[in-house]
Parts: sequence; C-alpha cells; structure tokens
Amino acid sequence: MANKEMKHEKNVEGMFYCTDPDDDNGEGCIACNVCYNGAPEFYAEDDEGNAYVIKQPSTEEEIELCIEQMEQCPVSSIGNDG
Ligand code: SF4
Repeated sequence: MANKEMKHEKNVEGMFYCTDPDDDNGEGCIACNVCYNGAPEFYAEDDEGNAYVIKQPSTEEEIELCIEQMEQCPVSSIGNDG
C-alpha cells in the first residue's frame, strides 16, 4: 500500500497520489511509466521519470482509469486514500 507520508511533492491535492522514489518501504516510484502512459491526463513524470498526480479524477470513468493505473503499478506507489 502506498505510503501517504511519502508523497511526491508535485502531486496535486486530493485522493490520488504517487509516492516519492525515496520511500524506505520500497514502495516508491521506480519510473516504470505505466501510469503516465496509461492515463496521461492524470499522471505525469518529473525530470527523472518519477510519477506524480497532475489532476484528480472526478467522474466515475476517470476514477476507474486512475484505479486501473494504481492496480498496475508494480511497486504499489499509487494511493487513493490521500
Ligand atoms: S506505475 Fe508506479 S512505478 Fe510506474 S511510473 Fe507510475 S507510480 Fe511510478
């Protein structure tokens, strides 16, 4: 489960967030590009390829899309309890 104490500093406020690559739990982003390729309207990459949330979803369809990315993240670095 993503550590909400280790959020990427560029996440917009809201329910969804990505965690910082320095997360000691080993759940930090590894810049695999799944989320920002799968849902570029909501996830973006910083200069090092690490992900952060640029827009929070609002419709059911958008939320579903963001959850899909969360489930596909190989290191559980996306949370939706922010
Ligand atoms: S899917 Fe996970 S590891 Fe991959 S870029 Fe997104 S947050 Fe990082």
